[in-house]
Amino acid sequence: MSKKYVYMFSEGNASMKSLLGGKGANLAEMTMLGLPIPQGFTISTEACTEYNEGGKKLTEEMIAQIEVALSKLEEIAGKKLGDPQNPLLVSVRSGARASMPGMMDTVLNLGLNDVSVEGLAKKTGNPRFAYDSYRRFIMMFADVVIGVSKSKFERKLDEYKDEVGAKFDTDLTAEDLKKVTAMFKQIYLEDQGKEFPQDPKEQLFEAAMAVFRSWDNPRAFVYRRMNDIPYSWGTAVNVQMMVFGNMGDTSGTGVAFTRNAATGEKAMLGEYLVNAQGEDVVAGVRTPNPIAKLAEDMPAVYEQFIEISNTLENHYKDMQDMEFTVEEGKLYFLQTRNGKRTANAALRIAVEMVDEGLITKEEALMKVEPKQLDQILHPAFDPKALKAATPLGKGLPASPGAAAGKVCFTAEDAKEQAEGGDRVILVRLETSPEDIEGMAAAQGILTVRGGMTSHAAVVARGMGTCCVSGCEEIKMNEAAKTFTLGGKTFKEGDFISLDGSTGNIYGEDIPTVDPEISGNFAKFMAWADERRSLKVRTNADTPHDAQIAIDFGAEGIGLTRTEHMFFEGDRIMKFRKMILADTVAERVEALKGIEPFQKEDFKGIYKAMQERPVTIRLLDPPLHEFMPNTDEEFDILAKETGKTVEELKVKARGLHELNPMMGHRGCRLAVSYPEIAEMQTRAIMEAAVEVSNELNINIKPEIMIPLIGEIKELKYVKNIVVETAEKVMADAGKKLEYLVGTMIEIPRAALTADEIATEAEFFSFGTNDLTQMTYGLSRDDAGKILADYIDRNIYECDPTARLDRTGVGMLMKWAVEKALPVRPDIHLGICGEHGGDPSSVEFCHLIGLDYVSCSPFRVPIARLAAAQAQINFPRETRKH
Ligand code: PEP
Ligand code: MG
Repeated sequence: MSKKYVYMFSEGNASMKSLLGGKGANLAEMTMLGLPIPQGFTISTEACTEYNEGGKKLTEEMIAQIEVALSKLEEIAGKKLGDPQNPLLVSVRSGARASMPGMMDTVLNLGLNDVSVEGLAKKTGNPRFAYDSYRRFIMMFADVVIGVSKSKFERKLDEYKDEVGAKFDTDLTAEDLKKVTAMFKQIYLEDQGKEFPQDPKEQLFEAAMAVFRSWDNPRAFVYRRMNDIPYSWGTAVNVQMMVFGNMGDTSGTGVAFTRNAATGEKAMLGEYLVNAQGEDVVAGVRTPNPIAKLAEDMPAVYEQFIEISNTLENHYKDMQDMEFTVEEGKLYFLQTRNGKRTANAALRIAVEMVDEGLITKEEALMKVEPKQLDQILHPAFDPKALKAATPLGKGLPASPGAAAGKVCFTAEDAKEQAEGGDRVILVRLETSPEDIEGMAAAQGILTVRGGMTSHAAVVARGMGTCCVSGCEEIKMNEAAKTFTLGGKTFKEGDFISLDGSTGNIYGEDIPTVDPEISGNFAKFMAWADERRSLKVRTNADTPHDAQIAIDFGAEGIGLTRTEHMFFEGDRIMKFRKMILADTVAERVEALKGIEPFQKEDFKGIYKAMQERPVTIRLLDPPLHEFMPNTDEEFDILAKETGKTVEELKVKARGLHELNPMMGHRGCRLAVSYPEIAEMQTRAIMEAAVEVSNELNINIKPEIMIPLIGEIKELKYVKNIVVETAEKVMADAGKKLEYLVGTMIEIPRAALTADEIATEAEFFSFGTNDLTQMTYGLSRDDAGKILADYIDRNIYECDPTARLDRTGVGMLMKWAVEKALPVRPDIHLGICGEHGGDPSSVEFCHLIGLDYVSCSPFRVPIARLAAAQAQINFPRETRKH
């Protein structure tokens, strides 16, 4: 039997998301629930993949199946596509497995042509409506399917409106719209050299292919990358019978959330427009009414709407984001999906749904995206500064948070200026999906038009970016790049501040502060901690960072980069003195200058961490990061060392490396200069002894030797460490337990892990270097190369951010499996950047590591990701 590509809504269900996309699967599920859904069919994601990978055309089999489904739909609808008397019109919409709002294409009112438009006019007795639909269709089809710029049509429409003195589209009569339609067809003819297609089936096939192609458009690429959505998923195409919200005052269209998507409050949040089509609400072209107004305008419809919303929320056990249309007093649901929400709303909804008895704690844990927790860790305004500031105007509080920055008027400018290090606020009449990169780069987004469910609001909320939308008081001059608000004119580069929680807009740069975390967060995270079997540590180099990490729930330190302790103030000079020393005696002297800082820092860290485990790594400086660069720096160093600038420059040239990331760093430094490892071990152990005595606690330092690739180099450095540590303890008359372990960050170390484990008491996977070296891709240069690889779909995502399970992960798995038989109680962790990435955390869970370690702000993300990994793939916690 040939493959099934097309499914009627009545043939699917919610579990078929990978095949039918989220929208298609939910339309099928709602059909099954007996809800009022305009019927239709879904062309599967598999067809999309075959289309994009094959010859970019629909196969005969696909076409045949679409035709069969269309006849069935015509039968259900009791009308036919293109029928001159009673035409069926359809919408053609994308729908991927994960929702990608506004990223791909949609065509509405398909099936209209010069004949059927007359049929529609007669059948409905509403020629204005028929021609309004036809002119919309021509523009949308031309824009989305063929690629004729929308602005050509919009300009023509504006010209015509001026000519006849119409202020709004709604002021145009049927005759006007008939003329506009003819003008639009003319634009099409001039642009394409052929008439607008009159065959509805041709329209349908072309539109379906355009949706498939839209999976490949640049904004979809950006969105997928930001949300970890694989290219291979593809999008489905939903062909659905049109219902019309633009048939007069008993018609309308809207969008609603069953709970407040910004705060999580259990209260319907929605908006609708009378006499409008769906795109008008979503695109933010007109500012809509709150949903409560529907109760006044059409009480019976409102009642039914609330009833169905409740059914949907209880059925999906999640907050729903629904689109609906009322056609002449009859309510239809066009789609439902689990609604996007802010992190605080997600936590509140998850916690309250458990309290309501709707879901279990485990289900609640699965409802929050770990990466989303980032949002609640973001800044708010400094309360004092905020009190002193006076708002200039107010828009809608579309996405919470605080943002201050320089005004930019285009997405390109925002991106460019943010890359140059500026904080920017993107100010737009309304945003569209093309703006996505600029929105991602901006601190905040301000729009003149559009409601709480406009593109700007939905996308910003998903990104966790502060957004104020629909501030219609703003007088915008896009061409001159200025706007006026509250009597003040702002130009590009002026500072403004936005409060995404109140909608207030300020004409100044207000300082921001770290956020308060709600009680829901603590409650929710405690559930995560009860479930997870992976421990979560942090990468911290200072007592301050260590304290932040503890506050975020870190259970220890997995990596202290000792070279990072020398970035500040005059410390870097002391460090340079050590690097550029000519003799052992000089180096020992320079090290004496460093040792007191190290010891004090270690003491501070131990005090912050109390008895929690602390892994301290011996020096691992990529030399180029520490070399003096400017003449001024050489001058200072010359004064400090008594050498000439020329002598120092010669030495620096001698140390210059072509690839410092693979150069004289890590244990190689300790092999060449054992005195460095000696000094550091002394500082680590003396600090541990002193703090143990002062606080009467047991500190058990973990000393980590980096960049090992050969058992003998580990042995060599370990001997120095052990000898020094034993001497410190003998001198102090105090015995402490301590561990000596290594990083696995060179493929050879992973491959020979059985040998390495004979000496190492713990492994910490340094996946930053392990990725660099496995890919043969220098960390310093990877960025620009990877961008090309991702754009060309060679790599699905950035392997430096998300662990490559197939290659790098295989080395890790191999190392674990080789090490365990040799040393069954070996501690296993990860401290590369991947330790805070949810997918990578899951992999670490799967291969049996004990802990992940990540930057302090990512600790909550890792805790939740670890809990989700345990729920999805239960495992035993290792005992030591
Ligand atoms: C690593 O390589 O993964 C690591 C944690 O060390 P660094 O980033 O300091 O090289
Ligand atoms: Mg490393």
